[in-house]
Amino acid sequence: MKSNLKNIAVLTSGGDAPGMNACIRAVIRTGIYNGLNMFGVMQGYQGLIDNNIKPMDARSVSNILHMGGTILKTARCLAFKEEEGMELAYKNLKAKDIDGLIVIGGDGTFTGAKRFGEKYGVNVIGIPGTIDNDLYGSDFTLGYDTAVNTIIEAIDKIRDTADSHDRLFFIEVMGRDSGCIALRTAIASGAEAVLLPEKETSLKELISKLKDGVNTKKSSSIVIVSEGNKYGGAYDIAKSVKRKFTHYDTKVTILGHLQRGGSPSGFDRILGSRLGYAAVNEMIKGETMQMVGLRGNEIKLTSLEEALNIHSYKLEADLLEMTHVLSI
Ligand code: ADP
Repeated sequence: MKSNLKNIAVLTSGGDAPGMNACIRAVIRTGIYNGLNMFGVMQGYQGLIDNNIKPMDARSVSNILHMGGTILKTARCLAFKEEEGMELAYKNLKAKDIDGLIVIGGDGTFTGAKRFGEKYGVNVIGIPGTIDNDLYGSDFTLGYDTAVNTIIEAIDKIRDTADSHDRLFFIEVMGRDSGCIALRTAIASGAEAVLLPEKETSLKELISKLKDGVNTKKSSSIVIVSEGNKYGGAYDIAKSVKRKFTHYDTKVTILGHLQRGGSPSGFDRILGSRLGYAAVNEMIKGETMQMVGLRGNEIKLTSLEEALNIHSYKLEADLLEMTHVLSI
């Protein structure tokens, strides 16, 4: 069944992620190509409440494909969690006759979109945009690939200085609930050890691994610490290790927000374009309350309900084993 949509709005919400601009561009241009009127909402759900909703044309998304961040800005908007906030958002959309909303964000954003769609009957499609790669129904989320590459580049630079001074570096990367980023960046940067939220590694085990490195004449060691590790952050772990293991000069680097920024990788530009294009086409076909995601090499729909309720990431045993075997 084809919908009678005329006006669609797009917003970015929650944590920003590289590739969001490529995705916004695809949404706006696919809509215009199909004869729809397109709108951009500023600052996520806050812009819906504040009526900060702008008409967009094909030129308003020129020259943004390569830019990190999001031209629509993003925000964490507590007011949208309240009934009054949602109602105001709905009234503002209705006043402009907007009956379709495309949201780019993570699980918080999807939770809001689902509530909003259920309550007011607005057509809603979600696009997974978060560096965390933690949504069921998409093998990759927008921004994850760029973040992994950014982290690897930073660790390579740290390795140069670590090697020159015989240093032990603890590098903290993002991933409060998921070790997906930490595990992959550990493999790609040849880290000596990785500490993950999903897996307990005892300090004894870690120190023994680092001692092996010294005994086999490693001139530096790098330990990747996922921010959600049970021993706390990289500083806490470094302190505990330092007390028991004095061989190296120990340093800590928290990569922090640089992991979110930067020009999107080729992969994220293509993924953002595909997901944006698919989101509009699916909405035109009459789909709602769905997320568009990449599975295999195909764009597939997953209901927002499933995307939110099924916990997607499980540490891969072979990758885990590799972090050990390949760093001897
Ligand atoms: P992310 O989308 O990256 O997970 P957040 O968890 O911060 O980021 O969520 C983004 C926004 O989604 C929140 O600031 C809020 O406006 C909205 N949101 C989150 N949870 C809900 C909810 N239960 N009901 C309504 N809106 C929500």
